[in-house]
Amino acid sequence: MRKYLPEIAIGLVPVLIVFLIFIGQNVVPVLMLGALGFVVFYAARGRGKMTAMTGQQRRPGTKAEPFSFEQIGGQERAKQELIEALDFLVKQEQIAKLGIRPLKGILLAGPPGTGKTLLAKAAAHYTDSIYLAASGSEFVEMYVGVGAGRIRDLFKEARTKANKAKKSSAVIFIDEIEVIGGKRDGGQQREYDQTLNQLLTEMDGIHANESPRILLIAATNRKEMLDSALLRPGRFDRHISVDLPDKKGRLHILNIHANNKPIAEDVHLERIASESFGFSGAQLESVMNEAAIYALRENTDKITENHLSMAIDKVMMGEKTDRESSKEERERVALHELGHAIMAEIVRPGSVSQVALSPRGQALGYVRHNPLQDQYLYTESFLNGQIMIALGGAAAEEMFYGGRSTGSKNDFEQSMSIVKTLVESGLTDLGIIDASMMTKEAWANINRTILDKLMSRTKETLEAKREVFASSLETLLREETLSGDEFRHLLNADTAA
Ligand code: ATP
Repeated sequence: MRKYLPEIAIGLVPVLIVFLIFIGQNVVPVLMLGALGFVVFYAARGRGKMTAMTGQQRRPGTKAEPFSFEQIGGQERAKQELIEALDFLVKQEQIAKLGIRPLKGILLAGPPGTGKTLLAKAAAHYTDSIYLAASGSEFVEMYVGVGAGRIRDLFKEARTKANKAKKSSAVIFIDEIEVIGGKRDGGQQREYDQTLNQLLTEMDGIHANESPRILLIAATNRKEMLDSALLRPGRFDRHISVDLPDKKGRLHILNIHANNKPIAEDVHLERIASESFGFSGAQLESVMNEAAIYALRENTDKITENHLSMAIDKVMMGEKTDRESSKEERERVALHELGHAIMAEIVRPGSVSQVALSPRGQALGYVRHNPLQDQYLYTESFLNGQIMIALGGAAAEEMFYGGRSTGSKNDFEQSMSIVKTLVESGLTDLGIIDASMMTKEAWANINRTILDKLMSRTKETLEAKREVFASSLETLLREETLSGDEFRHLLNADTAA
């Protein structure tokens, strides 16, 4: 009964109003009083909810274990730049003597999971500050002014907590800053504007000689979206980019997360580091964790290289699915994947690390490539090679079945995106052009020209390898996976023959 009290009260209101009208009373003052009460009640509720929520969200941040820069893998340049900036806070007296204006904000920009939050925590530890964390989305509210109020509260809370803990500084970390700090268009976004203005006002209020000193660290994946008012000198004027780790960084991160795990002696983490090109720190942490789960499932007390290899597949492609497919379908998928793998070994010998026929995520089979070294610049012939590897699957299906299937959709998308890169980099016959001026027809033409040419080259190359398809198909259907070495053995046996 008590549970339904609000509903009963709401139901009684119209009955009461109708009754008052019926007996000839003037209901306007009552209605106005009611409306006022409603507004006050909801404003109070909104604020109460806000303090409860931000308090709860930040609590773990404040009590977090001390986190140092040594516990962050890779990111050497970002760490160095950050430490240099933090020295402004550490060497306050020297800074004041020289009349240098205080550093107020540091912006960390980079893809998700690269360790931006970890860097902010380590910054708090390095400067012996209180650490408070919030996310941009916490400040987004329907009611004008609520977000701005939360910003004010956040700064107040930082000062109070620092005073209570007798610390001379506080680090406030705001993740997803683009949510509140996006470019202002002067139009509809009044609530966002007020929140951003409040943040700018709070930042302008930070002074060199105040105690506790506040340092704002913000993180974003989309720096280009930020309002220029946030980025101007005196606000977030230190920009540090936090990129995906290179091979050395990946090895460092893997080692950090392997620290509390029993790893078999013959595991080469270096190999895992090279196979995980393009992985973020968060994905590498996940690889280590998933590998430990595989070890648990198999009831072994050490994590083996096989567990780690399965974990890479899982993080890259998703969990294995139970999809049952017919013998014909399995055979088609196997030939398709072998098409990719043979092309990959021809274009870049030694690059295939696994061919698999087990369904994972959306894929029915896959080839895992092992980039021989990290690469950030690509030539035209390298990109053409990538397209031929992508087209290898469809070419193989055409060779053996006389036609293709829907299984090549992603391969074509990938090929077209490489064509786009070629065009935009001035690496096609079109020369150096402004790709944004190209018509749809021009795009269709260039795609057709490049893809047709590379498709026939791919088919020609694969035709010469029919024997390899035959010898590997049987093993792949039986074993479901072929390691890179096994596959190369079959390929080389054919070449020798
Ligand atoms: P987002 O942009 O999505 O908020 P982020 O860049 O802030 O991500 P973090 O929250 O710092 O990423 O990292 C997530 C997790 O990934 C960490 O808790 C840690 O386990 C792992 N991780 C990420 N980068 C590193 C790194 N450089 N060294 C060690 N661990 C890392």
